[in-house]
Amino acid sequence: MKNSRLKPPNWSGRRVVLVAIALLIAGCSSCGGGGTDNGIVPVELPEFDADRAFADIEQQCDFGPRMPDSPGHQAQLAWMISTLEPLADDLIQQPFSAATPFGGPYDFTNLIAVFAAEAPGTITMIGAHWDTRPVADQDPDPDMRDEPVPGANDGGSGVAILLELARIFAQEPPPSPVYLAFFDAEDSGQLGSSMPYMGYCIGSDYMAHNWPTPIESPERVIVLDLVGGQTEQDPSLVVGTAQSSNEYFNLRIESYSQAAAPQLVDHIWDIAEFLGHSAFERSVQGSIIDDHLPFINTAGIPAVDIIDFAPPVWHTVSDTPEHCDPDALYQVGETMLGLVYGM
Ligand SMILES: [Zn+2]
Repeated sequence: MKNSRLKPPNWSGRRVVLVAIALLIAGCSSCGGGGTDNGIVPVELPEFDADRAFADIEQQCDFGPRMPDSPGHQAQLAWMISTLEPLADDLIQQPFSAATPFGGPYDFTNLIAVFAAEAPGTITMIGAHWDTRPVADQDPDPDMRDEPVPGANDGGSGVAILLELARIFAQEPPPSPVYLAFFDAEDSGQLGSSMPYMGYCIGSDYMAHNWPTPIESPERVIVLDLVGGQTEQDPSLVVGTAQSSNEYFNLRIESYSQAAAPQLVDHIWDIAEFLGHSAFERSVQGSIIDDHLPFINTAGIPAVDIIDFAPPVWHTVSDTPEHCDPDALYQVGETMLGLVYGM
């Protein structure tokens, strides 16, 4: 993209039920039926294993940077395919070639893992970019700005949540169709580039223009980006040169998302509030060029970007696992479970 630590000792699905019951008893005398004041239906959710997801961030960083035309990019693609193939009902590979503001043309691949395609109901796509940025151009040290970004949070965190969702969906098929999309070539953009989206979002733009015909188009799209940051600030943290670094992990509402999909934004933030995930804050912060835009602009599909605006190590060489937190993955991952399983 451009632009209260509450981790329980074990991540139990039972917690959700207890929260739901407590809310029904304490706060919902006026709403009748089984819902809450904001219309959320309490549903028992599978467990989102945030530690297992976090291990996937570490695994991705072990491949090295996943920028275009790199060994890490190739290794990550092979690993995602071998991980997803046994889990998904169908895994669609979408290879393409494109230039970026940094050169090329390079070989790229989008992936779509399909679950419950025959089920009734709204088709949901949850996506994240899997490539990483070739240059750490926000690093406070000028000598580091030509180095690649390790991409633990920027790239790694969204993929980690999607892979954990895939494991869950394989065990407990969603009641409605779900696609998990892995966008290539998101993060090679450059300010001032004349390419669409300044050279960001190349993979998602390709997908929006070239939807693979064996499956129906999604009816709503949620993009996860920079969703693994520390929920408590480490005072020793290197602070990047981004204009407004967040002090801690938070998810404010992105304005293109709010304009294009206000009901979906409301619903997602309602679910997060119901589940007690305090990183989701109900204020609109600003506009971000990210993978939701091609689906809004090209395909006319309501799309929402869930993103931590400018975390401290954004586009620096310090975007490493030690600056990520399973709690962030848990908050976002469980909120996606709530959306998928019908809250
Ligand atoms: Zn980025």
